[in-house]
Amino acid sequence: MSAPFATRTAVVVGAGVAGLATAIGLRRAGWAVSVLERRTELERYGTAFGIHPTAQGALERLGVGEAFHARAVPYRNARIRTPRGKVLASLPLERIERKAGRPELLISRPFLIDTLLAELAALGVPLTFGERVSDVSALTGGCDLVVGADGIHSAVRTACFGDRSGPRRAGTVAWIGIADFESGLYGETWGRGRFFGMTPVEAGRTNWYATVPEATTADELRAHFEGWHDPVPRILDRTDPATWIRYEMRHLFPALPAFVHGGNVALVGDAAHAMTPNLGQGACTAILDAEALTRAVAEHAAAGLPSATGLPSALRVYDAERRRAAQRVALGSRSLHRFMTTEHTRLRDALVRVLPSSV
Ligand SMILES: Cc1cc2nc3c(=O)[nH]c(=O)nc-3n(C[C@H](O)[C@H](O)[C@H](O)COP(=O)(O)OP(=O)(O)OC[C@H]3O[C@@H](n4cnc5c(N)ncnc54)[C@H](O)[C@@H]3O)c2cc1C
Repeated sequence: MSAPFATRTAVVVGAGVAGLATAIGLRRAGWAVSVLERRTELERYGTAFGIHPTAQGALERLGVGEAFHARAVPYRNARIRTPRGKVLASLPLERIERKAGRPELLISRPFLIDTLLAELAALGVPLTFGERVSDVSALTGGCDLVVGADGIHSAVRTACFGDRSGPRRAGTVAWIGIADFESGLYGETWGRGRFFGMTPVEAGRTNWYATVPEATTADELRAHFEGWHDPVPRILDRTDPATWIRYEMRHLFPALPAFVHGGNVALVGDAAHAMTPNLGQGACTAILDAEALTRAVAEHAAAGLPSATGLPSALRVYDAERRRAAQRVALGSRSLHRFMTTEHTRLRDALVRVLPSSV
C-alpha cells in the first residue's frame, strides 16, 4: 500500500511571492519541501503590491498574517483624474472595504518577500540559490510534486505546455519607482495612451507606476508627463533615476488549458497566469494560488487517500478552484489596460464618470 502523500516530497521552482507562499503552505501540510531559485540572491527591488482582503485572508491562513500586517498600510481615498487634475471617479476601494469589512492594503515587495523568507527559514525549508531549472523531467522523477512558481517566462510551464504557452507583449512599457516624499494625493491619472498611478507604501515615500507606449530613458518618460497636474512631475523629479524599473508589459495569451499537468506538476502565480498589472492583482492571485494548492493537498491527505490517486485528485481540485477565477482576473486586467491606454479619451472619460466606482 502506498504511503499517504502528506509524508511526500515537493520541489518548488522559483522563490518569488508564489513560490515562497506555496513552500510555506506545503511545509505546514506536512510535506518535505525544497525551493530552487535561479538568482544568486533575492533582489531587493520592486515597489508596492496591493493586497486585496481575500489575499490577506490567505496570508493569514498560511500563518504569516501578523508579520504581513505589521508592514502593510491601508489604501483609501484614491481618485481617477485627468492630466489637468480633474476628478473623474473614485477607485473602488471604499466598496471593497465595505464588502470585506477591511481595507485593501499595500506592502512593498521587499517587505513581503522578507516576511515569507523569514517564515520559510523558521519552518526549516531549504532554499537553494543559483539553481536555474531547465530539465523539469529530472525533477518530476525525483519527487512527488513539482510546483512551477518560476514567473512569466516559466521553464516548468514550457516543459508542460510547450513554447507557444509563453507570454505576449501588450504593446506598452511600464515604469515603476518610489519617490522620497509622501504625496498625500493618491490614485491614477489617465491621459491619451498613457497613465500614471500613485499609492502610499511606507512613511515618507510614494509608490508610483507609469505606463506609456514607449520610453527607454528616464527623460523620455518625464516628457510623457510634462504639464500633468501636481504632484506627477514632482514625483518623477524626486525619484532617483538609478532606482526606476522599466519592463515591457506582457501577459499570457492564450490562457492555459490547465494549471496542473501529469498528476504531479502544478503551476502557481505568473507561471500560470501572468497578467497586466492594471487590476493590481499579480501578487494577490499568486497568494491565492499558493493557499488553494496547499489546502487542496492537505485536505486530501486528511481524507486518508493514497498518494497515487490522492495527489492527482488534489491537483484537479486546485485547478478547478483557481484556473477560471485567475483567468477571469487576467482578462479583466487586460481589458482595463486597453481601456486605460486608449487614444479615445473623451469616450473613455465620459464612461468612467457614469460608472459607479467600478473600474
Ligand atoms: C525582482 C522582481 C521585482 C518585481 N517588482 C514588482 C513590482 O514592483 N511591482 C509589481 O507589480 N510586480 C513586481 N514583480 C512581479 C511580481 O512579483 C509578480 O507578478 C507577482 O508577485 C507573482 O509572483 P511570482 O512568484 O509568480 O513571480 P515572480 O515574482 O516573477 O517570481 C518568479 C521567481 O522564479 C525565479 N525563476 C525564474 N525562472 C527560474 C528557473 N528556471 N529556475 C529557478 N528559478 C527561476 C525568478 O528568479 C523569480 O525569483 C517583480 C518581480 C521580480 C522578480
